Amino acid sequence: MVLKILAVVIVAFLAYIVFFKKNREKDIIAKKNEQIEDEMVECPTCKTYVSQKEAIVSNGKFYCSKECLLNK
Ligand SMILES: [Zn+2]
Repeated sequence: MVLKILAVVIVAFLAYIVFFKKNREKDIIAKKNEQIEDEMVECPTCKTYVSQKEAIVSNGKFYCSKECLLNK
């Protein structure tokens, strides 16, 4: 009987570890993706560094603002 309880506890513990590890891996992947999204790029007009998220993309180049896009 005690052995049975112990077995259930061990299985539950292993399931918890596997679940926790998967969640951690997801977190790490999500963080990596965020970092890639947040990569800084140089505006070709004013040479200011902006994050790709906020930049305006035109012909594969990243501009910090509409003014720089128009004054290229
Ligand atoms: Zn600019």
